[in-house]
Parts: sequence; structure tokens; C-alpha cells
Amino acid sequence: MKVIRAKSLGYCMGVRRAVSIAEAQIGKRVYTMGPLIHNPRVLEDLQQQGVQTLETSDTSADLHEAVVIIRAHGVTPRQERQLVEQGSRLVDATCLRVKASQMKAKALAESGYALFLAGEKHHGELIGIQGYAPDCLLVENVEEAAASAATLYANTPAAKTALLGQTTISVDEYSLIAQAIRRYFPNLEVIDTICGATRDRQNALKELCHLVDAIIVAGGQNSANTQRLFAIARAAGKAAWLVESAAELPDTLTAYQSIGLSAGASTPDKVIDEIEQALQHFEVRSSRLHLVPETNATSALQCHKPKPTLVPQTNAR
Ligand code: SF4
Repeated sequence: MKVIRAKSLGYCMGVRRAVSIAEAQIGKRVYTMGPLIHNPRVLEDLQQQGVQTLETSDTSADLHEAVVIIRAHGVTPRQERQLVEQGSRLVDATCLRVKASQMKAKALAESGYALFLAGEKHHGELIGIQGYAPDCLLVENVEEAAASAATLYANTPAAKTALLGQTTISVDEYSLIAQAIRRYFPNLEVIDTICGATRDRQNALKELCHLVDAIIVAGGQNSANTQRLFAIARAAGKAAWLVESAAELPDTLTAYQSIGLSAGASTPDKVIDEIEQALQHFEVRSSRLHLVPETNATSALQCHKPKPTLVPQTNAR
């Protein structure tokens, strides 16, 4: 089986920085506020070395003199204040790009803009940014953007508007959301908050889809940017799987001659290497099978592992 790695994959600058900040604190009484990054393997490793994860809602923990690391996705200013009041020593591992989004949201809100915030409403990054602009309008998709813009227009047609997005939102979706709002507010200011690391991994995957029969995306099921990559592969009409480890690779991969390997920005190098090595040991059986990949991107977003449909070739030799 031929395995081709995406030109850009795996750890981004923000995640690498957060993990190394946490590793530097090992040996002390140390917690992270929420999961440091969205990768269960990395969190398990850190936990085994004494780094514990606090739930963001946990206000009862004894944090006096403990080190508390703020996760890469950031937290709200209120949560930060609370941690200081609990007596902890804060170490900020918020990704610098996320920090920039938080500051931009705050500045726009203070300047009187009606701010649209696009992304996953329940994602820690968006919750953190919202803490800096509490009146912002959260929109998850084009339909919600159009509905929010229509309501705002009905109440405040002369509003100054701006759009800010989750760093991991897909480039295409962000542009469609901007278009939907511009129908009501042509002067909408669109802030480019999509992280270069996200964009690079998405573009590299799109290129890879032209070169291979199927795609493996390595990363945490709860990682937004990993899920985006998975959705992009499915939207490109490829059979695709999102796996957290080599053990999750499906046997049906033997039906493919070539596999593309991509990985989310929170997937460590060792997991990617492990999966690549395992793929190289798969033996291809595809000469007897013709594959019809599923193309329903909606089911992919629900994070089920898709099963390709196998159709025996009648004229196989
Ligand atoms: S994907 Fe970008 S914004 Fe998110 S942690 Fe990595 S570098 Fe920061």
C-alpha cells in the first residue's frame, strides 16, 4: 500500500508551545484549566506525570499555591479572575493567535460594533472569546448567520458590524457566512482570524485528495480542527476515517491502493508515525474490489467512522 503524508500535518505552534509549557511544570502540583489540548493520548501522558485537568465549572478545588495552566484555547476573563481568587499561580498557555482574537473581540465590542462570532458554540475557544465580548452574536453556520443578520437589521439597520471566526473554521464556510451577513450589512468588517496552521493543513489535505484513493485523518475525536479535516476529505468524495491511534485503522483499508495521511493540529508526531507505519503493513486486496466511496459530508461531521461500500467487480480477472 502506498502511503502519502499531507505536506502539512500535526502539531501547530500553539499546541507545541502549550505542551512544552505543561512539561516544564512537571514535578509541581499542577493543573490545567480544561483539557490543555484536544488529544486524549497527550492528556493521558501528562496525567501520568502528575498534570491534572480541572473542569472549567469546578470552583471548589483547593488551588492555593498550585500551578494552573490556561489551555491553548484560552478561557474567559472571569474564569481567570476566579483562579487568581482561589490562590493559584497562573501560567498562560493560551495560543497567541487565540489571544489575538480575544483582544480583537474586546476592542470591537468596546468600539460599539455588533460582533458576529462564527464557529462551534460549545467549543472552549469560542466560549473564551465570548467572555471578552459578551453581547456578540454566535453563529454556527450560514443559516444561523443569515437569521441573526436579518434580526439585527430589523432592529438596528445602521449597526456597525464585524465578523470574527474560530481559528479552526473552514475557509470556505467562513466566506459563505460573511456573504450571508453582507446581504444585510454590505459594510461588514471581516476579521481574518483563521489560523495559518489550520489553513495550511486544510489546503494540504485538499491537494492530497487528488492523489490518493482514501484518507486517514489522525487526531482526537473532540478536536475541532481534526473534525474539519475529516469533513473536507468526505466533502471531496473520499472514503475517509478519523482515528486516534493505529489500533483504530479499519481492515477495509486493504481494498485501497493508496492512502493519504493527514493529522489535526493537536496530534503528536509519535501518533502520526505509528499510524503511518501500521498503514505500510497493510496488504492491498483491491484488485478484486471496486470501491464506491460515500460522499455524504453530513454524516462525516457527526464523527461516525464511515464504511466504504464494497462492490465486487464482475469482470475481475
Ligand atoms: S491551530 Fe492555530 S490557533 Fe489553534 S492552537 Fe494551533 S496555532 Fe493556535
